[in-house]
Amino acid sequence: MDYLPIFIDLKQRQCLVVGGGEIAARKAALLLKAQASVTIVAPEIAEMSRQLLENSDYESRLHWINDRFDSSYLNQQTLVIAATNDEKVNLEVYQAAKARNILTNVADQPEMCDFILPSVLDRSPIVVAISSGGQSPILARQLRARLETLIPPAYSKLGLLVGEYRERVKAKFGHIKQRRRFWESVLQGPVSDHVLAGRDELAIKTLETLIEDTADNALQQGEVYLVGAGPGDPDLLTFKALRLMQQADVVFYDRLVSKEVLALVRKEAEMIYVGKQRAWHSKRQDEINLLLLEHAQAGKRVLRLKGGDPFIFGRGGEEIATLAEQKIPFQVVPGITAASGVACYSGIPLTHRDYSQSCVFVTGQLKEGELDLNWQALVQPRQTVVVYMGLAGLDILSQKLQQHGMRADMPAALVQQGTTENQKVWTSTIAELPELAKKQQPVAPTLLIIGEVVQLHNQLSWFS
Ligand code: SAH
Repeated sequence: MDYLPIFIDLKQRQCLVVGGGEIAARKAALLLKAQASVTIVAPEIAEMSRQLLENSDYESRLHWINDRFDSSYLNQQTLVIAATNDEKVNLEVYQAAKARNILTNVADQPEMCDFILPSVLDRSPIVVAISSGGQSPILARQLRARLETLIPPAYSKLGLLVGEYRERVKAKFGHIKQRRRFWESVLQGPVSDHVLAGRDELAIKTLETLIEDTADNALQQGEVYLVGAGPGDPDLLTFKALRLMQQADVVFYDRLVSKEVLALVRKEAEMIYVGKQRAWHSKRQDEINLLLLEHAQAGKRVLRLKGGDPFIFGRGGEEIATLAEQKIPFQVVPGITAASGVACYSGIPLTHRDYSQSCVFVTGQLKEGELDLNWQALVQPRQTVVVYMGLAGLDILSQKLQQHGMRADMPAALVQQGTTENQKVWTSTIAELPELAKKQQPVAPTLLIIGEVVQLHNQLSWFS
């Protein structure tokens, strides 16, 4: 990070703007908006500066010194902006200010900037500042435009409303953790909805009722969020997953959750890895169940983040069973399961009018070196079979499917780390897939897709 973003209180402070052109005027206007006292030094000024000078709101805070720059004008200044069209003058300002340790910005010359003015989205008291570090102001402006639609003007009212009730909430809820929870639930709930929809009075009424009626202990109770993190690409998270990820106190995650997804978890949350290798033991699972329970009982908001969907080969059911027994509140958030995400990103539709009318998900995980599956069901025609955890048992899988009547040249795909930048798709036949896997040595996680639909990969593949 080349620049530290800070928000400065410029009320009652002096700032100097050197230059009388439009750029200088725009910078002066920004300083005035932040309630600074501004002095413009320039032998002549453009229409825009003149308009500022004539604006009665700024009457007492804006002055024009009709002169060229002199270092004596730096006395008492907090910030200096040089925006003349004369590079020599700009340099002179920069050097004189530097000698006095005054932070300076020279317009359009990043190498002579101690600070830069960001692109600002003003929803005061909410203010978003975006900077490209001087590299591309246009990119920063485009981003601001996008945020503008995301953060409508009513956020300003919402910010003010929270500000008004801050002290009252502080008086009611003694602990900072309770307050954080209270505000999080208020801001995600009907109060926000009312403000954003322009129902101000209803918002106030609802907020007051919530302050009255919310019991201390309701804010102390722990909860578990069992959340599907999808197959890897963070763009495949649900909004709900992201919201809960942003409010967790502690996170238990495993091997399948991508680092890009983990990067979206609330920064202050404690991260605990409970990764499991291929052959995982039931004791380890018991330990995880217990960990979730203990942390929730301690009043924490526990995020159990699982690859894909928590209810598809994810042991999600087991993890929440203990919580249900102990009456710990929990929520389950579905995720995009590997079959769905990986097939899409491989250009292999799982069903297709011409090739496949049903789709089966199975686990290919070996138990004592064996695969105990309903083979007859898996070799049905016009069906796609997706095998999770199938790499280690691929030899057996291939043999058994053929023994039960699947044709040897049934198309089959092996996909490594689907939806991520390391995705690789190999296609072959069910008879030859084991050989291919030995040769290619794919990196986990891998998924097998078996069925006529695999042929479509050549035509429909889009992601690389
Ligand atoms: N609950 C998860 C599945 C857990 S089982 C889900 O719904 O997706 C773990 C198996 O999922 C892996 O062995 C692999 O077969 C499959 N898998 C998960 N993510 C994958 C990915 N990005 N690419 C390929 N296979 C994946």
